[in-house]
Amino acid sequence: MAIPRLDHFIDGALVAPNGGEYMDVENPATGEVIAEVACGTEYDLNLAVAAAQRALDNPDWRDMTPTDRSVVLNQFVDVIQQNAQELAYLEAISSGGTLSRISKLDFLLIIDSIMTMADLVKTYPFTQSLPARAVPELTDVKVVKEPIGVCGLIPAWNLPMVLFMNKLLPALAAGNTVVVKPSELTPHTSVRLAQLLAPLLPPGVLNVVNGVGGVVGEAMTLHPGISKISFTGSTAVGKRILVNAAASLKRVTLELGGKGAAIVTADADLNAVAHGALYGVLLHSGQGCESGTRLLVHESIYEPLLEKLAHIAGGLQIGDPMNPDTQIGPMCHAAHGQKVLGYIHSALEQGARLVCGGERVRVLGCEGGFFIAPTILADCNNQMSAVREEIFGPVLAVIKYRDEAEAIAIANDSDYGLSAGIWTGDVLAAQKIARRLQAGSVWINDWHMLRTDVPFGGYKQSGQGREMGIAGLESYLETKAITTAFQRDPAKKTLTYGIVHTFD
Ligand code: NDP
Repeated sequence: MAIPRLDHFIDGALVAPNGGEYMDVENPATGEVIAEVACGTEYDLNLAVAAAQRALDNPDWRDMTPTDRSVVLNQFVDVIQQNAQELAYLEAISSGGTLSRISKLDFLLIIDSIMTMADLVKTYPFTQSLPARAVPELTDVKVVKEPIGVCGLIPAWNLPMVLFMNKLLPALAAGNTVVVKPSELTPHTSVRLAQLLAPLLPPGVLNVVNGVGGVVGEAMTLHPGISKISFTGSTAVGKRILVNAAASLKRVTLELGGKGAAIVTADADLNAVAHGALYGVLLHSGQGCESGTRLLVHESIYEPLLEKLAHIAGGLQIGDPMNPDTQIGPMCHAAHGQKVLGYIHSALEQGARLVCGGERVRVLGCEGGFFIAPTILADCNNQMSAVREEIFGPVLAVIKYRDEAEAIAIANDSDYGLSAGIWTGDVLAAQKIARRLQAGSVWINDWHMLRTDVPFGGYKQSGQGREMGIAGLESYLETKAITTAFQRDPAKKTLTYGIVHTFD
């Protein structure tokens, strides 16, 4: 069977790469080549940026009212629902996400995000009139919110479809046009979504340029025609983007790594903690920036909780993501799997205790995939590299603490600040702890509580800016003040013109 080719999507049509080159895309569960994706160049990017710039000036898009943009966004719901089965399949074979997670959680988030943004765009004050003030003279002022321009969207490989939509929706709701650079590891759903959604938009509003980060991504962050970059990925690349973007002062939103710490208080329900903390770290085999990867446990419940965690983790089904019963899927590729194992080994060398997992698992029928057993490391401390750095795998580091102050200090002793949490029997006391945790999202008695109307983003080196909700929409808007003078007689403008003019 011929291997499908994934081209760019520019100005409303599929476009082959100018250089004629393609790269293999593999199924993480089997290692099989499932597609060839266009290897984009700066030339391809220039075509897409030019199309996006033309679309900005197209009155069909430029003058569309927020209400009409809301109608268009709502139409996305039908298109995505009608094609959900195909999209779920493409997402699972390219990203290794379990079909079960994609069908249940990802679509729920995507559909809800569309509806949230479609509602918001109808009520958001794109134009506000300020009351007249006579300082220094009587004026009328309107504050208007306008699109920034052409936005370069760079989602990561871990949740390609959710990240694509999270960036696309507010960008379009604000009236921008976009060029998306999907990860070359997981381009399937981005190209397909562009084909499905673009017919609802004027040509050139939504473009996709495939290729590697070091070429297309890099060129996007330096491109003078791109006014904003929204990036999800590693902190190292995020810092590089910020430096590149500084040359033309592009607006930048960065959603970067995390090392989520959850504090388990002595009165917590151990059964709830064990299930919830494992959900927090094992969703998508730990390949999520907001994962709960550090569990800080009060000394009085430390051993019983470890026992429960090991018991539940040991019973989880690792396997082919296409099997609806699979709970833990593969790492995105073998090199990443090896990196995860490297972190586990380094923690053991530095004195951690292996409670369960810690090794690669062979899955029948998926011999080419890299699967890692859910791993719990006890007796960890904040000096270990597996505790300080983002592993992006199914690895939970457990740390014992004696009192609340110590737990908060350990949680905050991190370069990252994306997610944090508290597992407790006292939700009122937890509110106070939540205020002291340095993280953009704090979850009490649960994890991954991502509501589409709630801002999401990081403190410290976990990023810059917020996605989702009003904050997400505003990150794609510029603010303009339009001021109209009432006084037309220059001689009466004594407080202002009187400084430089003399009137008889
Ligand atoms: P990267 O940060 O390298 O890649 C993320 C995205 O950025 C990809 O689309 C990548 O393209 C692109 N990119 C790479 N270099 C540049 C550049 N110079 N300019 C613009 N875009 C660029 O992450 P990795 O895939 O290498 O993963 C490494 C680690 O990053 C993971 O182990 C994990 O710890 C963290 N990570 C965090 C994520 C999060 O959700 N915050 C998501 C993914 C990774 P390409 O694929 O072609 O390189």
